[in-house]
Order: sequence, then structure tokens, then C-alpha cells
Amino acid sequence: MTHPRDLRSVRRYSQHYACFACRRAFKRAERWPPEEGEAPRESRPCPECGQPARAMGVNFKAPRRESANQWRKLELLARMNMLFHHWGRRPATLAEAKQVARRKGVL
Ligand SMILES: [Zn+2]
Repeated sequence: MTHPRDLRSVRRYSQHYACFACRRAFKRAERWPPEEGEAPRESRPCPECGQPARAMGVNFKAPRRESANQWRKLELLARMNMLFHHWGRRPATLAEAKQVARRKGVL
């Protein structure tokens, strides 16, 4: 028997994905919590190129396609798992992101 609390606790949320190859972002509805035994999705195929697009967090905002340095910065943040699941301070520029990456030994 399903307890009513279990039903109420299932949520849909809008996850933002970013493809760094295309510099393109898209959203998909995801289930929270994930199906039993499943981890939250880290990527989904990019609708444009089919490569894995990274889950960036619900507070992610895509820069313009032409903002190459902003996209490079985001790729670096993704490599460091500095994602947009919560509000908070993150490196604003590529130079700042590189400094953090060097400190963490990622670069
Ligand atoms: Zn793509």
C-alpha cells in the first residue's frame, strides 16, 4: 500500500542541460526523487549533436552562443562540479574560474 506522503513527495522539476560543443542549453522535466536505486541524471543527449549534455542545475542560465569565454568558464565549472543547484557565489569570469581550477588541481 502506498502511503499518501510518498505520493506527495514525488516532484517534477525542470533541469537545465548544457552542450558545450554546440553552446546550447535546453530544459527537461525530471522526477524527484529519482526512481528507486537510480542516481539523478548527470547528462542527456544534446538534441542538436547527440553528444552528452551536462545537467547544470535548476538555477543555470545559458550565456549567449557568441560568449565563448563564458561557455569555456561554464565547462570548467562543470568539470569541477560547481553547478547551479543552489544560489551562491561562483567564478564570474573565465580567468577567475581558471584560478579556482588551478587551486583545486583541475588545471
Ligand atoms: Zn550539442
